Amino acid sequence: MICLRYWSSCGVIAAAIFMVGCLSGKEDLYNETKIIMGTVVQITVAHHSEEQARAGIRAAMSELQRVDDLLSVSKPGSLVTKINREGSSGKIPVGAEVFSLLRDTVAMSSASDGAFDATIWPVAELWDFDKGGMVPKPTLIASKLPLVGYQNILFDDSAMSVGFARQGMGLDLGAIAKGWAVDRAMEKLKSLGIRNAIIDAGGDLRIIGARPGKDFWKIGVQHPREPGALLTTFSLRDTAIVTSGDYERFFIAEGIRYHHILEPATGQPARGCRSVTVVAATAEEADACATAAFVLGPQKGLAFLRARPGLQGLIVDDRGALHWTDEAFERMAGR
Ligand code: AMP
Ligand code: MG
Repeated sequence: MICLRYWSSCGVIAAAIFMVGCLSGKEDLYNETKIIMGTVVQITVAHHSEEQARAGIRAAMSELQRVDDLLSVSKPGSLVTKINREGSSGKIPVGAEVFSLLRDTVAMSSASDGAFDATIWPVAELWDFDKGGMVPKPTLIASKLPLVGYQNILFDDSAMSVGFARQGMGLDLGAIAKGWAVDRAMEKLKSLGIRNAIIDAGGDLRIIGARPGKDFWKIGVQHPREPGALLTTFSLRDTAIVTSGDYERFFIAEGIRYHHILEPATGQPARGCRSVTVVAATAEEADACATAAFVLGPQKGLAFLRARPGLQGLIVDDRGALHWTDEAFERMAGR
């Protein structure tokens, strides 16, 4: 079996979106990079005071780390691991912020007719993408598919606890948690008085204010088939932009590309799209919608994005053709 794997040894995913442009104006730019949530996190702050900029970046990085420790499906001490281990035997108290996040995931599942489903874990685990990936036996996938179903997450509003209706179910918040974490980290920056900044967690970006001397930040979107090349750029302020792509975590076996975004109905990598980029008010929404639209495929995915108010998107289909939610968004794109 010919099997090519595309990974770096430390599990770093190349950032899907890069910052481009040059510095001008009075404030200076401060930039730090760290590996958190298995990806490259880059925070850029424009500020008059280096001390305040660095304090903000430190606080935002700690917040991202806190969310990773809470929601990682692979950390033995995380809350998600506890839910996955014990959630079939009884409901686990999760606190207000995670309870609300889990409510959001279920809302996204029903809005996308189940294309987005955080109960994908029993199947996602079989593909083992964190360790390079492998094609699971069809019988094994078939045996786990009945455990996938967001309708079987049980909520207790008064205790803010969650559990599972079926033994063996599990949560994987990988399609929404990065965006959610970026939003939380941006709140930290704002609470410290920072008004112009970008947080980029491996292609999940939240942007406030503008680059010094400009009234926007220029953001580049990764080309899904040309590593290191940009598909397009956008000039943005006070928004979030997130890309889901089949180039982020994948391997090729016998000429077939297997990637990490799975179709809940079949347990197989979703076909039809190479990447989906979404611009929305929050990184949480952009992250979840990008994954949902990717699974839905170019036609249904575009309809899904168009139906959500205040949202814009760009889908690259499996032939490389570009599909825009609206002409205004297409006109915003630079080359
Ligand atoms: P993203 O890169 O945001 O599109 O999220 C992909 C990640 O979400 C995968 O690595 C899995 O952890 C998880 N995932 C895969 N397929 C789905 C799905 N259909 N719905 C929700 N989460 C998924
Ligand atoms: Mg996502």
